[in-house]
Amino acid sequence: MKTRKSAMAKLATVGLAMSMGLAAGNAAANEFISIGTGGVTGVYYPVGGAICRLVNANRSEHGIRCGVESTGGSIFNTNTIRDGELDFGIVQSDVQYNAINGEVQFEGDAYEDMRAVFALHVEAFTVVAREDAGVSEFDELEGMRVNVGNPGSGQRATLEQLLELQDKDFGVYSQASDLVASQMAAAMCDNQVDAIIYVVGHPSGAIEEATTSCPGKLVNVTGSAVEQMLNEFPYYAATTIPGGMYSGNPDDIETFGVGATLVTAASVSDDVVYELTKAVFENLDSFKDLHPALSTLDAESMMSEGLSAPLHPGAERYYREAGMM
Ligand code: GLU
Repeated sequence: MKTRKSAMAKLATVGLAMSMGLAAGNAAANEFISIGTGGVTGVYYPVGGAICRLVNANRSEHGIRCGVESTGGSIFNTNTIRDGELDFGIVQSDVQYNAINGEVQFEGDAYEDMRAVFALHVEAFTVVAREDAGVSEFDELEGMRVNVGNPGSGQRATLEQLLELQDKDFGVYSQASDLVASQMAAAMCDNQVDAIIYVVGHPSGAIEEATTSCPGKLVNVTGSAVEQMLNEFPYYAATTIPGGMYSGNPDDIETFGVGATLVTAASVSDDVVYELTKAVFENLDSFKDLHPALSTLDAESMMSEGLSAPLHPGAERYYREAGMM
């Protein structure tokens, strides 16, 4: 009885909050928006949460309610925005480029209505191997059991592209498993796979798990195929995972990386995109404090780096108004 009463009281409060939202009378009043992210132990998920937190803080002014969804990653987010089932999504800059230009995974199937909002943190092509696998270079993974990522994930797409450059495919591994990001560290520690691959910002929960639940070792990703990736594709850049970030991994790790970017569809309203952009840029210092991977962001690169799709007019309106362009 008691529980029921308090549940009723809660409902009444929600109703009140909703009618207050309505009363705000803004063009975007009472709109629900969703951001597609990635696995809960990645960086997209908490970063999406940080964006929503800033949007929701001003809900009484604009009436927009923002929620995050844990998803399969970049390719999934792109396809789901395209289908109109997500309003925003975080996607790797290589996936954004390929989608808008109809290349690689999107060959002959360009997503022309994709729109860029802003860039986020840097993501490193991250490989962790079991200590007993004795691997120190990416090429040594051939013949081993490797988690190549779930279909829909950015890591699977980037790995495929890297192997393709060498005329190789997942067949070079004795086993190519497709576990989602949140399951792969446990699988490696249980000796079901020798190594896991994740395109992710740092620090990330999944890599922390893979280096503390068992002694996972970060692996360098260098060599001629990587050189070729860097030369051939504008969206890849060399990057370093700093030594000491994860336990048992004191040395700097050399690899390549991409940028995480926030994208939307041309059909999402200018007001909604404007309010979301404004919420993040006007609170950039608090945003940077919400996750360590965001700490090095700056406004200038956020509105330009890794954005190959046209800017959404709502984002552009904010950048112009703020004198940024
Ligand atoms: N880069 C990964 C992907 O596109 C997601 C990384 C994360 O969740 O932080 O699937």
